[in-house]
Amino acid sequence: MADPAAYAALSEHSRGRRHPEPAPAGRSEFQRDRDRIIHSTAFRRLEYKTQVFVNHEGDLFRTRLTHSLEVAQIGRAIARSLGLDQDLVEAIALAHDLGHTPFGHTGQDALNACMQDYGGFEHNLQSLRVVDTLEERYAEFDGLNLTFETREGILKHCSLPHAQQLGEIGERFLHKQQPSLEAQVANLADEIAYNNHDVDDGLRSELIELDQLSQVTVFARHLSEVKQRYPVLSGRRVIHETVRRMINTLITDLVAQSTKNISFANPRSIDDVRRAQPLIGFSGAIRTEQHELKQFLRTQLYQHYRVNRMSGKARRIIKALFDAFMQDPKLLPPQYQDKARQDQARAIADYIAGMTDRYAMKEYRHLFSVEEL
Ligand code: MG
Repeated sequence: MADPAAYAALSEHSRGRRHPEPAPAGRSEFQRDRDRIIHSTAFRRLEYKTQVFVNHEGDLFRTRLTHSLEVAQIGRAIARSLGLDQDLVEAIALAHDLGHTPFGHTGQDALNACMQDYGGFEHNLQSLRVVDTLEERYAEFDGLNLTFETREGILKHCSLPHAQQLGEIGERFLHKQQPSLEAQVANLADEIAYNNHDVDDGLRSELIELDQLSQVTVFARHLSEVKQRYPVLSGRRVIHETVRRMINTLITDLVAQSTKNISFANPRSIDDVRRAQPLIGFSGAIRTEQHELKQFLRTQLYQHYRVNRMSGKARRIIKALFDAFMQDPKLLPPQYQDKARQDQARAIADYIAGMTDRYAMKEYRHLFSVEEL
């Protein structure tokens, strides 16, 4: 394999773990992080957490798990082309959504509203909390004890008051610095993944139609390429051929533009990267197209009445669970009752955030239906 670039995150120069551990044998520090994430409980729960569609709505829609795998794949491809550390990008990608509540963004908004008087709830911060504190797998420490670089990548954004409480991991928000290029890649790989798979899932669900999407520049451009090359092709293959071309265009553009940005800024170390402007990015033309696609998805898919209908239910479930546990913490499982004695609202938020969609629905029935025990 080619040597990593000077501006890459180097495993042997990692800023280390909060609890020092001997160097791993036969794998790098970032590979060890990736392995710990895959073996975590929170990672397995991603299988039953909503991306856009609730898990029971269909077997073929993306879940948080398959979304995270797609982010990792796209991230590795970009990292490979730029001479970055692929394992670090993969670790960040696989962990980036660990803190998501059940029911996607609606769940997060509902829990945040419940937590207004108790410090709020933010899924990105919760992802860090999962790997730093909530996973219970090791005798000697809470959490997964990941490297600084993986943790820095997981914390994409953060308010200044939170940053002040987070020690070294919060510093970059106070000093307005960037994370590693690997973290920047994982962040944009997330965007490439969801924009494209939401097109695919949106069409599959029939909430959006091919005709509507043909009004969106980036889709129309790639669709006409497919139609020219395969004039008689129809059905799902047309969509797959179009979507995979869109992903390819985005990756190629991102690599080309980022290569330019990097050679202009000429960082010689990860610390130069941290002090520079963000160096991973799309060209202006692609940014404009992506903006149009996002707008389309927002109005036509994420705010579709059938999605709204499920969101309404999700909001009511989260609020009802939170209120019931706040009123009577004895309804919590014993290990959360212990935690609730220290900080009741946060313990409840941790419990609810950890739930899968179907676990939350089951818990709701247990608490509110007289037929269920
Ligand atoms: Mg994501």
